[in-house]
Amino acid sequence: MTYDLNNRTAVVTGAASGIGAEIALVLARSGAKVALLARRADRLTELAEKIAAEGGQALAVAADVTGDLTEAVETIHTAFGRVDLVVNNAGVMLANPITEGRDDEWHRMIDTNLKGLLNVTRAFTKDLVEAGAEGTADLVNISSVGAHLAFPNYGVYTATKAAVTHLSANLRTEFGPLGVRVTNVEPGLVSSELGDHMDNPDVDAHLAAWREQVPPLNPADIGDVVGFVTSRSKQVNLRQIVVLPTVQV
Ligand code: NDP
Repeated sequence: MTYDLNNRTAVVTGAASGIGAEIALVLARSGAKVALLARRADRLTELAEKIAAEGGQALAVAADVTGDLTEAVETIHTAFGRVDLVVNNAGVMLANPITEGRDDEWHRMIDTNLKGLLNVTRAFTKDLVEAGAEGTADLVNISSVGAHLAFPNYGVYTATKAAVTHLSANLRTEFGPLGVRVTNVEPGLVSSELGDHMDNPDVDAHLAAWREQVPPLNPADIGDVVGFVTSRSKQVNLRQIVVLPTVQV
């Protein structure tokens, strides 16, 4: 499905795959100019070419959300001008028992899922506030239903997502009065590469079995939700949305 996002300029982090790629596609098909941000330049270029072939406008910007984003922001401004729609979607999920003490994984998740989100938000705050004062501006954070759940092995991942959910509610109190709509989207199980970077065969097997039991959402289902929420009238803020596969309890 497409929406009316003509004259909007978006940045989607984690656009190299999965949910982020599908969000970028929906936004571009809805008329937005879309900057695609992630680390894998080849994936981003491929997606930008696909969007261009469909008649849309996209820019591949290889960058790490945990690093210095000055150059990325300049590249986006030069190509597209001021950004008025930011989707913080980049994330990693590295599940292991907390008792194993894998602080390398803890740091990667906290740095990407929480600090990276803050880093990107900071990089585009001026744009969003200016756009919010003149018209419509959106900040969309992709959290997880895991923000509200507790289960073994995913403790640090779900803690980062609980932090994203809480941060989104707080960001809303600062950005909302400035005309920047903050939306927190909390997906359930979605088919993607998210679990591919884990190194624990037991946890892998558990995730595979879960996906057998609960047919996951498609990344495009989340893309559709983001297209919907960002195309409402500017006074309408669907501030927190849990999106689950119908059979996920
Ligand atoms: P993917 O692994 O397909 O997507 C994650 C994206 O984040 C990739 O495109 C990756 O690209 C990018 N990324 C990771 N680290 C960085 C970084 N340091 N800098 C820039 N980009 C980065 O998984 P999903 O599409 O499923 O995940 C997207 C979001 O949805 C995540 O935040 C995840 O937590 C959330 N989510 C997913 C669910 C699911 O079941 N799949 C459920 C609930 C929430 P690259 O490696 O090229 O940088």
